[in-house]
Amino acid sequence: MRSSSRRSLISPPQRSLGALKGIALSLFVSLGSASATPARDLGPLTPPSLPERALESGDAQWFIAQVNRGLRAAYVASSKAQWANLTDLTPEHEAEAAARAAETMSYLSAVIPLASRFDGVKTDALTRRQLTLLKRGSTLPAPKDAEAQKRLAELSTALESMYGKGKTCRVVEDPKDPDHGRERCRDLEQLEEVMRSSDDYTTLEQAWEDWRLTAREMRPLYAEQVSLINRGAQQVGFKDVGELWRSQYDMSPELFEAQMEQLWSQVEPLYQALHCHVRAALHQKYGAELVPLDQAIPAHLTGNMWAQDWSKLYSLVAPFPKRSSLDVTSALRAKGFTPKSLTRFAERFFTSLGLDPLPDTFWTRSLFEKPSDREVVCHASAWDVEFNNDLRLKMCVKIDHEDLITLHHELGHHYYFQSYYTLPILLQEGANDGFHEGIGDTLALSVTPSYLHSAGVLPEASEHPEAVLNEQMRMGLEKLSFLPFGLLVDMWRWRVFKGDVPAEGYNELWWSLRERFQGVRPPHARAPEDFDPGAKYHVPGNTPYMRYFIAHILQFQLHRALCQRSGHKGPLYTCSIYGSREAGAALRELLALGASKPWPEALKVVTGTEELDASAIIDYFAPLKAYLDEQNQGRRCGW
Ligand SMILES: [Zn+2]
Repeated sequence: MRSSSRRSLISPPQRSLGALKGIALSLFVSLGSASATPARDLGPLTPPSLPERALESGDAQWFIAQVNRGLRAAYVASSKAQWANLTDLTPEHEAEAAARAAETMSYLSAVIPLASRFDGVKTDALTRRQLTLLKRGSTLPAPKDAEAQKRLAELSTALESMYGKGKTCRVVEDPKDPDHGRERCRDLEQLEEVMRSSDDYTTLEQAWEDWRLTAREMRPLYAEQVSLINRGAQQVGFKDVGELWRSQYDMSPELFEAQMEQLWSQVEPLYQALHCHVRAALHQKYGAELVPLDQAIPAHLTGNMWAQDWSKLYSLVAPFPKRSSLDVTSALRAKGFTPKSLTRFAERFFTSLGLDPLPDTFWTRSLFEKPSDREVVCHASAWDVEFNNDLRLKMCVKIDHEDLITLHHELGHHYYFQSYYTLPILLQEGANDGFHEGIGDTLALSVTPSYLHSAGVLPEASEHPEAVLNEQMRMGLEKLSFLPFGLLVDMWRWRVFKGDVPAEGYNELWWSLRERFQGVRPPHARAPEDFDPGAKYHVPGNTPYMRYFIAHILQFQLHRALCQRSGHKGPLYTCSIYGSREAGAALRELLALGASKPWPEALKVVTGTEELDASAIIDYFAPLKAYLDEQNQGRRCGW
């Protein structure tokens, strides 16, 4: 399963896992007989026990086959329970989902240390690859002793539920408010709604602060968790958890860090240009005192709780507000689309590339609409529940432009699942964690006005330069504004894991990075007990974040390469690969690799290069950059 949608930056992404029973089983049987270790019939969730003697290649193959079998049992049980819970929220379903997740965690923490016993044992390449993936596969590495494991499980559950249940209560002081004089408690959903809909400086500031108040109590727990998982990482041979996370990328942790910084230096001028223009607009709206022109932007004014998506500022900076932008939403509604038929429409994009249709079960098992008889989590996500092409979508589809894009994004995950589900379960992952997110978005970049026109949705496809600039601004506010945030969350965490700062210094480090990269600052001084990183899900949820930065760069790089294969001529932003079998064949080849090869090799299949490269995102936004540079003339940019 994998949570996705463009909103997954806010909500938890889940781990994608899976395997084809037949293959895993046959691997097990054939290797079982070739192995020097007798294949006893253990329950699948009993960790395999390794002999004390020196280990050989056959042991490694046997071990990996056992682990694939165990993981398959654990993951299938876990994802069935999760699906049941998220599509019908009851205390029983939740308890079952938590129990299955705990079972998976305990299995993983038993087998991961065993993988180290094969360091230095000669074995075939595919077995070695799986041992490597297993060793570095945990983002929350538990130490070996049972006491510490128990404490770690408590801490991680507590942190996650503190985030999930976070609320701030205060007496409403505004006399115009119907709740005036009464105490009101607001959760994240309500506070985010304020961030999106209000443009009152003080109202925004309070909503922004209220959400951060919920994170204060996390700090001691988080610091304790850091020290426990650092111990776990050290026990499997890493200096700290940050090094373990960075080692997931098939290169030295140092080189990976350097590559991320290199990518940032490529896109920084583009971000700075957008920042400069947006700040000028906010300056005009809120005045020189609140938004001075030589300082970072107050972090609560961008329409988003973390200032990571500035889409809501579109009306403030639309280049040609009088030219109505494409009204895809009305067109879709006029065509009478339903949630299911809109999903069919998105599927058609994939089949036009020569990819197979989704399985019939997809259409009967998915959840397309919010049911009226039970509570569900509407947050869009893509699943292979039983890891055998049991593809399902969970999404309360609205008939609008945003959800049309989200559907293409979600199906990107499904097509990844569909392309690799016959691999052993350890290899059923994206080439790296940025790829899974990036693939869906790559395809969504092809949902251009002219594609929608040729597909009969839009009556006309305006390529008027004014319409192009409006569309570029809309996309830039969404995608470019994200880049520095995508980069800095893990820059902060890597330094925390390294032990560079004590818990009392966490918040200061956080804000120094937010100011340096994003050019935003808190609206008022932070208190010594504040722990603002905890107000972002992925920190208490312990989910690595660099994947989103990678995905944002990668989607443009893949898009450009696929466009070249499709024979596209003209500016990159006008390209749609719809209907291109050539692009589809290359894409299929990449997807089918899963995690069986280091990611640079997967990248090369489509792009011909093994290096991530941000020049495509710069190409794509060339018209916007020219416009911004013109607007910024005479302004002093930077902070
Ligand atoms: Zn996604």
